[in-house]
Amino acid sequence: MIDVVALGELLIDFTQIRSNDDSVRRFEQNPGGAPANVLAVLSKFGVKCAFIGKVGNDVFGEFLRKQLLDLSIDCRNLVSDPNHNTTLAFVTLDDKGDRSFSFYRNHGADTCLSEEEINLELIKNSKVFHFGTLSMTHEPSLSATLKAVEYAKSCGKVISFDPNYRALLWDNVDNAISAMKSGLEYANIAKLSLEEAQMVTGKTLPEDCLRELLKYDLGIVAITMGPQGCVYATDKYMGSFPEYPANVVDTTGAGDTFWGTLIFGFLNNGADFDGISEERLSEIVLMANIAAAMSTEKKGAIPSIPDFARVRAAFEEINGK
Ligand code: ATP
Repeated sequence: MIDVVALGELLIDFTQIRSNDDSVRRFEQNPGGAPANVLAVLSKFGVKCAFIGKVGNDVFGEFLRKQLLDLSIDCRNLVSDPNHNTTLAFVTLDDKGDRSFSFYRNHGADTCLSEEEINLELIKNSKVFHFGTLSMTHEPSLSATLKAVEYAKSCGKVISFDPNYRALLWDNVDNAISAMKSGLEYANIAKLSLEEAQMVTGKTLPEDCLRELLKYDLGIVAITMGPQGCVYATDKYMGSFPEYPANVVDTTGAGDTFWGTLIFGFLNNGADFDGISEERLSEIVLMANIAAAMSTEKKGAIPSIPDFARVRAAFEEINGK
């Protein structure tokens, strides 16, 4: 039995290495792609996970497969495409560790996943189906994503959604907003950045965004706000946390660590937030907030995922337990 299945992009993040030499830029090769990052967090915390996606039949695809397998993520439905290259993203960092992206994704293998390639049995035998919008930018992966999420919904799975908007990968912003809204229509639990929440709701303040987002049928919605921490809401409670202090090196994947940790708490709560107490809910979000902050202290999305014991210790210190 698999607990969480995620579908989406799997790519290489070439992350800039800081250097005093302006004449040469160095990048290191890290696995990337938000849905896979979320699974990496869950798998590291002991949850059984499977990934659905496509990479090129090239050295980068091989590297990505090995990274997921090393994390004990089921890769039976990770397809290797002989005709298309693995997508590459170059991540440059400013002085604060904030990122800029350059994507090399023209006919990238991740966008070439087709409906026929989806292993529906894998979804049927799971509890949570997680996806985002980057598999919805192009066909055939758009149709593949919709088929998978519709199937998951029809089987009564919990649908988890993080849009992970990247302006450069969309032809126009209206298509991106439509994809985000359609993802939210399917979702039971969702995480958005403040920018995404503002785009979808047309509101400015985080609390107003939350109220609008709750009009979708969401058991929980969280909005992450980078160095400003997060806000969250269910139909009964609304709360927020300021950022947990961190020596920030690279924020890549912080949102994925946040969401992976929150799904971990959700699963430990019986995969249901109905009837959860306000205190228990805030504990789960606080853990996610701490784990996300800790993940900014190292480069790369997956290498920076903190050990659960460290997250737990920081949580207990705050809670005085
Ligand atoms: P990604 O696309 O990389 O997954 P995101 O935009 O979804 O990122 P952010 O809002 O940048 O996610 O960050 C997610 C969480 O990480 C925040 O809610 C916060 O808990 C933590 N975080 C991010 N930046 C910082 C920071 N500078 N200091 C402390 N915590 C941070």
